Amino acid sequence: ETRSSEQLIRAEAPVLAHNYHPLPVVVARAEGTWVEDVEGRRYLDMLAGYSALNFGHRHPALIEAAHRQLDELTLTSRAFHHDRLAGFAERLAALTGLDMVLPMNTGAEAVESAVKVARKWAYEVKGVAPDRATIVVADGNFHGRTTTIVSFSTDGTARAGFGPFTPGFRVVPYNDLAALESAVDETTAAVLIEPVQGEAGVVIPDDGYLTGVRELTRRAGCLFIADEIQSGLGRTGRTLAVDHEGVVPDVLLLGKALGGGIVPVSAVVARREVLSVLGPGEHGSTFGGNPLSAAIGSAVLDLLANGEFQRRAAELGEVLDRGLAALVGAGVTGYRARGLWAGVDIDPAIGTGREISERLLAEGVLVKDTHGSTVRLAPPLTITEEELGSALTALAKVLA
Ligand code: PLP
Repeated sequence: ETRSSEQLIRAEAPVLAHNYHPLPVVVARAEGTWVEDVEGRRYLDMLAGYSALNFGHRHPALIEAAHRQLDELTLTSRAFHHDRLAGFAERLAALTGLDMVLPMNTGAEAVESAVKVARKWAYEVKGVAPDRATIVVADGNFHGRTTTIVSFSTDGTARAGFGPFTPGFRVVPYNDLAALESAVDETTAAVLIEPVQGEAGVVIPDDGYLTGVRELTRRAGCLFIADEIQSGLGRTGRTLAVDHEGVVPDVLLLGKALGGGIVPVSAVVARREVLSVLGPGEHGSTFGGNPLSAAIGSAVLDLLANGEFQRRAAELGEVLDRGLAALVGAGVTGYRARGLWAGVDIDPAIGTGREISERLLAEGVLVKDTHGSTVRLAPPLTITEEELGSALTALAKVLA
């Protein structure tokens, strides 16, 4: 490609759907925490592909696993067994403390799959009357973009124009156990929540909420589905966000970082009783669990096995927290942070989230706004303390 950044941005408009509003930077290569644009300008990546790049760009162990697998086998479909799938599922079960894995590709597919599994479980195991199963979800959720998932979104922009919607969902306020309790009844197949709401702006529930959800769902005889597609795999300073309360859900949804930022890999991980409701022909995916995905996913899980990344996220998370605390009242009205993950609310007098993101871009730092006034920070967990410090310095500068 010989065109400039400006030319490439202009070339996209007539030929690409406008379902995104990217910052005006055209990335051409990347390594670790750094990306480089077409003209060779370097940027510190403080977004990490919405947490798909938890291990940074092109982590050597992941690239090596990918190269090795590319030379052996890339796809079989699930019509046949392949030699990488058992090891991938064993590692996932071991890391999460759950039993069985349903491999898929994107996050939305994992959520869709969990909705199907929960409904079937409700009919076959719980004994809910045919076609009456309900799933309780939280206000402000983000679980993906399919027609069923936007059916229970509370974001008007995500829903407008896409009806008719899939029935069978009840929405309750997030972080409100009493509301959850009153929404759960004998038709409830599952409660589906994000342990930290990422797209909502890194919204962290009160201590005890996840424990409460676990106890409530156990008492009510319905499933607790934790969507950790964004919060999982080291981001919050623990392997999973539910680990902060020592809670094990019935169903865990993983994606994003599970593919190492190389290929889309997602999974529904669950207790045996739950995933056992699926029989041959009842669900599937041509690419789900393919050899390349399984090899890269296994390498990702190996990186997480000794806890080093989780520890880094926890330790550097304290640096991030201190840095943001110092900015409150200096252009920041508030923030929420857990591990290497923060939602920073920008004083509207200083600029919108978008404007701050554009100013940071000019300073060589990549972030993304969410919900108008919030800037989300989620650097690769490989970031150094010095790099993190320079990002915070840049933030302070553009807010000044
Ligand atoms: N669930 C959560 C919590 C997410 O944050 C996302 C993506 O941001 C998804 C699901 C959807 O994942 P995907 O974009 O891979 O479909």
